[in-house]
Amino acid sequence: RRWIAEHWDEATATLVGPQAEHLVRVLRAQPGMEADVVAGGHVFHAQVAAVAANEVRFNLISELDADPALPITLVVSVFKFDHMEWGIEKATELGVAAIAPVIARRTEKHLAQAADKRVERWRRIAHEAAKQSRRSDVPLIHDPVPLAQRVRTASDATRIVLAEQERSTTLRTIVQEAVEAAQNQMPTLELAFGPEGGWAPEEEALFDANGWRAASLGPRILRAETAAIAALSVVASFLE
Ligand code: SAM
Repeated sequence: RRWIAEHWDEATATLVGPQAEHLVRVLRAQPGMEADVVAGGHVFHAQVAAVAANEVRFNLISELDADPALPITLVVSVFKFDHMEWGIEKATELGVAAIAPVIARRTEKHLAQAADKRVERWRRIAHEAAKQSRRSDVPLIHDPVPLAQRVRTASDATRIVLAEQERSTTLRTIVQEAVEAAQNQMPTLELAFGPEGGWAPEEEALFDANGWRAASLGPRILRAETAAIAALSVVASFLE
């Protein structure tokens, strides 16, 4: 398990709040106890220096190699919250850098209205999943915005809209081209997934007009969270 420090300097890191309480109350942390602590995106082998009611200060002993996130942002049309939460947890485990919730034309109304109130919970889920999967960073969960705002935002990423139409190229082909164009470095990618009802025709035209490439994951209709996992597996296969 890795602890993610809220405060740090070059020699110490301090946990406050729920993590510190867990360390003190449940794990009975005492000076000398060793643990892995994440501070400023770096991972350290650390030792408890001092324990207070809900604060634990560590001395940072040595830096461990961090595992950089995949330079991928998932642009996700808000969908049924339990499935959305599952998807955020799995995408975090799989190493995404960011998740950008968007409101698409066919996003169910009640989900669109409630999305802003769910973001803090989504951030907590990402934080927990990052710790559980021993990531050295926590994916950024953006505030929900209308799809068009995200699609039009200028970006130097390779931007791919997942669409199950037969006309789209396979995701593998597009990622392969992007990796080659990046001289075999992992390119920065944005992958967009539609709502349960899929993309509206005017949204597909908007993606097209803003340089997004349409990619298919095969002939079957996948749930958005399944499509996200499948897409991340395709991208990760270029890292092997
Ligand atoms: N549009 C589908 C329909 O016919 O009702 C349902 C959309 S699907 C549940 C949600 C999203 O997952 C899609 O908008 C797309 O982004 C992605 N997706 C699902 N299956 C896919 C596939 N075979 N290829 C690419 N993307 C897929």
